[in-house]
Amino acid sequence: MDPLLANPRFVVGAHRIDQLPPDEGTEIAFAGRSNVGKSSAINALMGRRALARISRTPGRTQQLNVFALNDVCRVVDMPGYGFAQVPAAVRRHWDALLERYLRTRRSLRGLILIMDIRHPLTGFDRQMLGWCADADMPVHVLLTKADKLGHGAAGNALLAVRRALAREFPHAGVQLFSARSRAGVEEAREVLLGMLGAGSSVSLMPHL
Ligand code: GDP
Repeated sequence: MDPLLANPRFVVGAHRIDQLPPDEGTEIAFAGRSNVGKSSAINALMGRRALARISRTPGRTQQLNVFALNDVCRVVDMPGYGFAQVPAAVRRHWDALLERYLRTRRSLRGLILIMDIRHPLTGFDRQMLGWCADADMPVHVLLTKADKLGHGAAGNALLAVRRALAREFPHAGVQLFSARSRAGVEEAREVLLGMLGAGSSVSLMPHL
């Protein structure tokens, strides 16, 4: 694994934009509805358990959890939720924070959007894709839990999502993923490193 991804360090859980670290360097965000497999995906990509544990601490679910990879690169875990699980007012507040973060954060260079391969392109997913399209932000979709489908069915699901994205959100890439079988982990790491602008040979270069 690229050393850049090997040692993430929790920095802050931000309830508000002004609690985030200074808006410099390079940031990549992970988003996905709750229970979609986001924590497992992040853990598989980083080869660690600490990230997800921190994000799951009660009270930390409704905040942007920021992890530093080095002095200039960060990843941000943006917790989602099932739409039925929270009151409308809380949801609106959280939606507004996510939208503002995605639209205004200058150091944010890409979004990794996690979808359950059996339930892709939910309302939440389309909202995130729309905000990223407006902000000209690269997005890469992980269709996770691919191990739950047979090879052929997973391939068909990938094709269907790829077609829908090409039609509606042509800036977004997509791949199969499984935290369980580890299918697609290397491919996703390459995309993440590409977004960070930090292939292994230049992982410690600042990207300002
Ligand atoms: P989060 O709420 O999006 O962070 O979801 P989690 O990562 O906690 O995963 C939710 C549930 O899905 C857990 O029971 C995981 O074990 C399961 N899960 C996550 N990723 C995979 C996967 O790739 N394959 C399978 N079969 N189950 C998974």
